[in-house]
Amino acid sequence: MAEHEHRIHHGDSLKQAARERLTKEGEQWTDMRAAVFEALASFDKPASAYDVAEEVSKAQDRRVAANSVYRILDLFVGANLARRVESANAYVANQHPECLHDCIFLICDSCGQTVHVDDDALSESIRKAASKAGFSASRPVIEVRGKCGDCD
Ligand SMILES: [Zn+2]
Ligand SMILES: [Zn+2]
Ligand SMILES: [Zn+2]
Repeated sequence: MAEHEHRIHHGDSLKQAARERLTKEGEQWTDMRAAVFEALASFDKPASAYDVAEEVSKAQDRRVAANSVYRILDLFVGANLARRVESANAYVANQHPECLHDCIFLICDSCGQTVHVDDDALSESIRKAASKAGFSASRPVIEVRGKCGDCD
């Protein structure tokens, strides 16, 4: 990975960065997409399409189908606005939409709280190890299960 200014966004700055990123991808930042992103970003643990649909429905006071939320989350993952946490079968907002990393997730088995760290050296070693085994690792998934500081 080239040197770059790595920024972790929160709140409005995260929404702004997500919007810029999606627009750069040639996609529109519609009201619905904005609402889905906002709902996703409000969770401190991975959220399913159903969780997000529930949240958007509450905020908009109308029934929003999980199916349409699912499609938007899929688009977000493709555009680096969200990441899938595979072992939780759920999504989190990507706090660095401008740059691509193999995000590492630390997931608490008790409360579900998920911490996100980036360590390109680590994911690079995994790629190298895979490549030695004749395997091309296009998408390393690194998720660590255990207990968070609050639950331990
Ligand atoms: Zn970065
Ligand atoms: Zn990351
Ligand atoms: Zn916990």
